[in-house]
Amino acid sequence: MNVHNLMEEYVYTGVNELFDDPEIGKQEWFTCNCEQCRIDTICFVLNRIQPRYIKSGRGLVYSKIEEIYDKSQIMADINHLALEGMKQVLSTRRPHAEKVDTFPEAPVFNFPTIVGRILDGQTFEPVKDIFVSLLMDSKLTEAIDCTWENPYRISKYTPGTFTFWPKPVSTKFENTKKVFSFEIRVEEKGFDLIRYYFEIGLSSESFIRTAYNARNSFFLPDLHLFPEHDKLDYMQYCL
Ligand SMILES: [Zn+2]
Repeated sequence: MNVHNLMEEYVYTGVNELFDDPEIGKQEWFTCNCEQCRIDTICFVLNRIQPRYIKSGRGLVYSKIEEIYDKSQIMADINHLALEGMKQVLSTRRPHAEKVDTFPEAPVFNFPTIVGRILDGQTFEPVKDIFVSLLMDSKLTEAIDCTWENPYRISKYTPGTFTFWPKPVSTKFENTKKVFSFEIRVEEKGFDLIRYYFEIGLSSESFIRTAYNARNSFFLPDLHLFPEHDKLDYMQYCL
């Protein structure tokens, strides 16, 4: 099973086609055509489509989403996401040298990617255009690099799913154990606040893990988003 690599190939091709498209080259927002912007756009897309293709034991969570999509739909979504990503990368990057991602000194605690879904509490449909935040010790968690933004907006092309990858945290010694406390927060106007707390226990390592590995993911249970007035309905119902 090598779906992940196949997707990388599609994304790689799709993003490069966009960057090489003469029509796009004429657009006002097309401000840079360098390798780094292409790579960042590829990462932007991969960060969003990856959860759909995980084939681990818990990947079954995503099987429902997979059923909804056929291949041509996936390709269309990749193209939409690639364009979205390209615009974001080009508009948020000024001179690239300014935004080099820095890593802490090893030894470090390397975090897994944190993967979850948000469903509409009434219809169980995956939500879209919703912002999800990851907090550690009540503060927005810093991401491993600028393509894993936090808060993360759930794209309509990857309904329901979100993925975070926290930046490694420096420590003094290898093989130290530590439990990190996280919170997933969804503050969306018109909906009940979601605050979901969880912990991840880690051992420090002598190296910084920067290569993405789908097997090293931490899966959260599905979270449900309810409209605000629901509570009132429910109370009336109880009365
Ligand atoms: Zn560039």
